[in-house]
Amino acid sequence: MNFCSHCGSSDLEFKIPEGDNRLRHICPSCGTIHYQNPRVIVGSVPIWENKIMLCRRNIEPRFGLWNLPSGFLENGETVEEGALRELKEESMAEGEILGLHSLYNLPHANQVYVHFLVALNSNYFELTPESSEIEFFDPPNIPYSDMAFSSSTFSIKKYLENVHSTNPKVHIGTYVKS
Ligand code: ZN
Repeated sequence: MNFCSHCGSSDLEFKIPEGDNRLRHICPSCGTIHYQNPRVIVGSVPIWENKIMLCRRNIEPRFGLWNLPSGFLENGETVEEGALRELKEESMAEGEILGLHSLYNLPHANQVYVHFLVALNSNYFELTPESSEIEFFDPPNIPYSDMAFSSSTFSIKKYLENVHSTNPKVHIGTYVKS
């Protein structure tokens, strides 16, 4: 952080505020403490007739790799709204949220993924500026070696491991550096 977003000062200090125990960017001019916290990424595991819909990323990062439709939660929206918005933005597909599917921590990147299980209304989709290719994959054909993010791999594997379970639960995972 180079500038105070409150007063514009460029004299930010990086120190532990009184009563705190972590380093923060502090503006000595206006006194603002700039807390920085993890960001939430919302997405879905979109299902149609036992197939999983994936989008090939037409944007950086991980351009050209497959991903579950997902993106940053926006201010003022719920995680459910965000997941369905991202689904539509990337594929024009629409569906219904069946439940919370997974939480995936990326502490090194300061991110948390929230994936919902979504039953698509149909197999309708359109390519969008964000997706160069969209496909429905049968479980044996999931392109694990071309997946953009480990959060997608985690969610898909957990879905397939538990697809016949009568007692669906939320799966919690954490990125481990390989
Ligand atoms: Zn300031």
